Amino acid sequence: MNQLAARVKQITPSITLGIAAKAKQMKTQGIDIYNLSSGEPDFDTPQHIKNSAILALQEGKTKYGPVSGELALKEALVNKLKEDNGLDYTPDNIIVTNGGKHSLFNLMLALIESGDEVIIPAPYWLSYPEMVRLAKGIPVIVETKAETNYKITPEQLLKAITPKTKLFILNSPSNPTGAVYTYQELKKLAEIIIKYDIWIVSDEIYEKILYSKTKHISIGALGKDILRKTIISNGFSKSYAMTGWRLGYLAGPSNLIKAVSTVQSHSTSNVCTFAQYGAIAALKEKESSACVQEMLNAFTNRRNSVLKRVASIPQISCPIPMGAFYVFIDISQISKNSIQFSNDLLEKYQVAVIPGQAFGNDDCIRVSYAADLISIKKGMDRIEEFINTL
Ligand code: PLP
Repeated sequence: MNQLAARVKQITPSITLGIAAKAKQMKTQGIDIYNLSSGEPDFDTPQHIKNSAILALQEGKTKYGPVSGELALKEALVNKLKEDNGLDYTPDNIIVTNGGKHSLFNLMLALIESGDEVIIPAPYWLSYPEMVRLAKGIPVIVETKAETNYKITPEQLLKAITPKTKLFILNSPSNPTGAVYTYQELKKLAEIIIKYDIWIVSDEIYEKILYSKTKHISIGALGKDILRKTIISNGFSKSYAMTGWRLGYLAGPSNLIKAVSTVQSHSTSNVCTFAQYGAIAALKEKESSACVQEMLNAFTNRRNSVLKRVASIPQISCPIPMGAFYVFIDISQISKNSIQFSNDLLEKYQVAVIPGQAFGNDDCIRVSYAADLISIKKGMDRIEEFINTL
């Protein structure tokens, strides 16, 4: 195995996928598992979205298509970005990809050169630093605190910028913390980005999963100067329960999108043609809004249930998540090693969670409430039992 490329030795396999696989394996062995590790809604894709893809398949939409996506989908995305986010784009500003992960990976390949620094606030979605490393960039991790709801402050961003800074990765609503940046917070960050002329990629994949009247604001909507430096990364997995469809997109300046398209033309080519017709149906507000709301109502109940339980266990705490479907729970009073904690919890109490270390914070664990309410309730019972043994 010595012949493997050096680049694979610099990255670690996804811990989240690893834990999920272990939990699934235990389940197939007949072990009663409560899986609170998954970043995947437990709902099925809404029927009208499936119907649209089935129709496209029957109509013979089974051929290669344009690398950057079907024009009808890109037009629907232009419309969505205007209506939902207040962003002015044309189809030239958009590329359809095989999921948000693929969007970001393509972007790193198109933008990052050897030695470029990429600022990533921690806790972060675990693929960001690895993607940067694969593109030969240098992840610059900025640790945020529970006191600021794990949001990077303008002072922290300023301090992290050097002449080598190329890109800043912002994720709001956040995985793993559920933090959502406000207009004022984004405004201050945008001023710094403009002043130092760096790029920002705004990962907005959880934009529709919001609680307590929280609003999602896309940083690119704050003005022409910031829009010029912004790339929006988004996808269909979380908002429409379409994880397996592998559908995402990037929106940004047309020359950058063209470069991403060139990268994609030599790797995956276009996204599955008939799947893109499912995406077009998902973007039809009239048909989709009730399904999205139904999922959101379920997430809201689950979130309330988890938060109540966290509040009732004195040794742990978490900021209140305003978006996405995760709580990032501080376990530092009872454990100094989140991987050990999560492994013991899975092996001894059959509850799967993700150790915070995967997200760059070893004081915490991530509990996902994209699971059914019974799993959440029983899982939290077991977490409490486990904590009481420590
Ligand atoms: N960005 C964030 C913050 C995520 O949590 C995920 C999935 O977990 C993605 C991007 C990528 O999602 P997908 O590739 O399914 O579109």
